[in-house]
Amino acid sequence: MTILAIVKAAQFAAEKHKNQRRKDVDASPYINHPLALASVLAVEGGVENPDVICAAMLHDTVEDTDTTAKELANIFGDKVTSIVLEVTDDKSLEKAVRKEEQVRHAPLISPEAKLVKLADKICNLRDILASPPADWTAERKKAYFDWAARVVAGLRGIHPGLESTFDGLFARQAELL
Ligand code: ZN
Repeated sequence: MTILAIVKAAQFAAEKHKNQRRKDVDASPYINHPLALASVLAVEGGVENPDVICAAMLHDTVEDTDTTAKELANIFGDKVTSIVLEVTDDKSLEKAVRKEEQVRHAPLISPEAKLVKLADKICNLRDILASPPADWTAERKKAYFDWAARVVAGLRGIHPGLESTFDGLFARQAELL
């Protein structure tokens, strides 16, 4: 059942994100991003909770595709759905407000959602260091790093190993050009 759910989540996310590309120069397939989160959690972090891995795979489906909470709940159940919703921004809010909401919200979410959010920030810092969006200035990249660190401050205590992975990436800001 567990393996089945994880494979289904990977396939579901691949289908939902099939027409989306990342903002890096190579415009890599969007699905690489949820897969990277799942890998950070399972491979680097040793996280074995299948609900967390499924939610990582699905974490951007409600925010960035036509996927509804009901659709997720029907296929993946209430637990996975609630984790995904906890890491989904309210798109009716302005972007700056949404970013502040993430900082405010981070300490209040479930342990499972904290893991997904921490992995998301790790993956985003890695992407900005290795293959940033073509049109981002150094200032914009640094501002993203600073904001991500404020979000992660609210997640601390959830996984010391992955938190130090984040800190190691954050410390590489001098490389941002
Ligand atoms: Zn993400």
